[in-house]
Amino acid sequence: MASKPSSNPLARVLTNYRGANREAAGRYLGELANRQRAARILNPTEVGGEYDAGRLLTTTMGGHLHAITHEDLRTFRQNVQLLGKRFRGGITAKAIIDLSLPEDRERANREIKTAVPMQSIGGRVHFITNAGPKSDVARHHVHVEFLTFSAAVSSPGPAADLVKPVVSGALKFDCDCGRHTYWYRYIATVGKYNSGRDETGFPKIRNPNLRGVACKHILRVMQQLSMPIIKQQIARMIENARENLDKRPKVLSKKQAEQIAEQQRAQETWKRSKVETTSEKRQRLAQARAVAAVVERARAAPAGKVTPRSVESAKKQFVQKAKTLAAMGVLSPKQLQTMLAKLG
Ligand SMILES: [Zn+2]
Repeated sequence: MASKPSSNPLARVLTNYRGANREAAGRYLGELANRQRAARILNPTEVGGEYDAGRLLTTTMGGHLHAITHEDLRTFRQNVQLLGKRFRGGITAKAIIDLSLPEDRERANREIKTAVPMQSIGGRVHFITNAGPKSDVARHHVHVEFLTFSAAVSSPGPAADLVKPVVSGALKFDCDCGRHTYWYRYIATVGKYNSGRDETGFPKIRNPNLRGVACKHILRVMQQLSMPIIKQQIARMIENARENLDKRPKVLSKKQAEQIAEQQRAQETWKRSKVETTSEKRQRLAQARAVAAVVERARAAPAGKVTPRSVESAKKQFVQKAKTLAAMGVLSPKQLQTMLAKLG
């Protein structure tokens, strides 16, 4: 337990808080430069059929690494077409969680606990999240663009009432991590819900089947959009945008950021804090209802009619349970004997 704060990914997320913006801009430009230098990208005209086999690009399509074939290109085109048909521009937080891969949800639940909306410019919000335990950076930068934000700003009524349609409506997003960059940014671009730079290179090695939708950082942010503390912040952003038409960035104070991070830490074990799909949630609630029903039946039972037969049956069940516990070694033979003697 004597770990230094600097080695704790949750404590590191707000270190050099003021520098987070410059850090995000630096990473963006660095990644853009890398991307522009990259030579082994499969571009859209090539996926479209103008591929020169002499380029010897490889893919993991079909589960093994091999040189790209015409068959592969045909499958890539089909995958892209299917994807393009599924999205109409923008995606909702609920759909992001529902369409995510179980391994990304699992990572979000295990590793990513903090998501602070540190800055906003109009409806584009810059969140910082903690990084995973094996990451070489302290935090990640997630940008979320709420597509109904301007409508809420201009709509009559208190901002607090307009937050829900904003956070549950269509949005676009971006994350600076490797998972988003190499697995998901292309999908986001084709799906028209990408908020960073467009990615035109087909993910032929990492994700040729175009599976999944969001990294663990995005998933934590999407889950947090339903929490009151984040909704309060978004309401404040709406109020701010009504008062100031300048579109200058609004930055959260470090103290406010710490309060949000602290609250997220305190609520970490809440069921509501879990990143879960609609069907996972339905299943969990059904299970909870089933357990509650059993408890209720057991509680109501003694009120029923006590007959010699019901007493005999309860006795029998008790003896059976006691014997099982003794067989498991939970009760000693002497304890078992004492219990059975008491029954008479
Ligand atoms: Zn990410």
